[in-house]
Amino acid sequence: MTGRLARRVAGFGTTIFTEMSALALERGAINLGQGFPDFPGPAFIKEAAAAAIAADINQYAPMPGSPRLRQAVAAQWERDYGRAVDWQREVTITSGATEALCDALLALIEPGDAVIIFEPAYDAYVPDITLAGGIPLPVRLYPPDPTHATWWFDEAELRAAFRRNPTLIIVNTPHNPTGKVFTRAELRLIAELCQDHNTLAITDEVYDRLVFDGGAHVPLATLPGMWERTLTINSAGKTFSVTGWKIGYAVGPAHLNQALRQAHQWVTFATSSPLQEAVAVALEQAPVNGYYCDLLRDYSERRTRLQQALETVGLPTLPVEGAYFISADIGALGYTDDRAFCRWLTTEIGVAAIPTSAFYSNPTGAPNLARFCFAKRLETIDAAAERLAALHTRL
Ligand code: PMP
Ligand code: GLN
Repeated sequence: MTGRLARRVAGFGTTIFTEMSALALERGAINLGQGFPDFPGPAFIKEAAAAAIAADINQYAPMPGSPRLRQAVAAQWERDYGRAVDWQREVTITSGATEALCDALLALIEPGDAVIIFEPAYDAYVPDITLAGGIPLPVRLYPPDPTHATWWFDEAELRAAFRRNPTLIIVNTPHNPTGKVFTRAELRLIAELCQDHNTLAITDEVYDRLVFDGGAHVPLATLPGMWERTLTINSAGKTFSVTGWKIGYAVGPAHLNQALRQAHQWVTFATSSPLQEAVAVALEQAPVNGYYCDLLRDYSERRTRLQQALETVGLPTLPVEGAYFISADIGALGYTDDRAFCRWLTTEIGVAAIPTSAFYSNPTGAPNLARFCFAKRLETIDAAAERLAALHTRL
């Protein structure tokens, strides 16, 4: 019997993260590709999970999420952004940011609706939009150049995309894969356009705690007029270095949470109850135990270490304002095909990276970059640096 594959998923292929991680494993390469820490999450969150299991918090959580976790998320918004959030109606807990994104798109767009995304874009957005029957409307982010210190977009191109009256825009800040942190001025423009065109926003803020060099993370939802039309998505995976737990959350007005829950209740219904409890404890403790400062300090050190390693072997790096990835310009070494380069680097040099063209719906004209993840122990980065030194002799 030939395999059956419904049309709605037939074009999805295999994610680049799965492909490169499998290749890294097969070839014994150091995996700087898929974004996940190779160090443990903090003791206080692991202990809270073990305690929750021992205390028999092991049956289904309520569909919208554990009350304690929803209260902790609401308290965080009040503390960090001065916004009073109704934990019962304005917060929903999901199985990772991945589920929240998919639920939100399934619940908020009709077949044929246009959805703006900035490209390069995190790889789940286009399949999620497609699954919901929507049409992705990519707006390019351009790499830094002599007149732009960081990744940037062309205001005229964004305005032109909005003239197609999109139902929704997805904004990811800090941004994967570029490390761009959207400025308040850029977000103001997006906010103005959303309001002029009656467009909703989904923001993906999973890297909100990783903004370097004294920069600030600004949630789009905190700009005037935006709360009512924005769902802000986050995940404990990045913040607490527990990507395998898959605890995500969506914050926004009741009407958008209600819509998201319509999908969530049939996709997963509820997510792991002891892990929700542990994330609640972590969100309660982190602001008072210095965790966020330590996290940022450690990541700054890892960023510098990997930047130096790449530069030393002749791979120029692009500036990183946030998140945990560095883009390196592989054109400098004479490479013109980033997929071929990343496969070669994994199999021959023993270091895995992700080709940036994988983050474009149409990679024609995409910059020639490889994305390296620095959510790694310094020893891992040093070991990768040693292997990368062979680049000189192998080219
Ligand atoms: N959004 C972005 C930008 C990501 O990088 C990731 C994954 N690392 C996710 C969403 C998915 O998050 P989760 O693992 O919580 O599903
Ligand atoms: N977000 C991670 C990355 O960008 C990967 C997550 C996944 O494998 N789906 O590398």
